[in-house]
Amino acid sequence: MPLYDYQCKGCQTVFEVRATFTEKEAGLQPECPQCHSKKTRQLLTPGLFFRKSDDGADLTLPACGPNAGPGCCGG
Ligand SMILES: [Zn+2]
Repeated sequence: MPLYDYQCKGCQTVFEVRATFTEKEAGLQPECPQCHSKKTRQLLTPGLFFRKSDDGADLTLPACGPNAGPGCCGG
């Protein structure tokens, strides 16, 4: 059974959910183990989420603005 990484939108807790493919396709909405909220989202790139620099800066790539040049977002 595959594992999925989810993050709570309320308390930001990241947790793993074990679900079958069938359950996943049915619209799995797991409950946060910390605050029991069902407002959770799946982390599609769990590896990236934890990648922070030593000074705590967020390394998330900036979104492409309307004036983004060619090559941005793969364009
Ligand atoms: Zn929570």
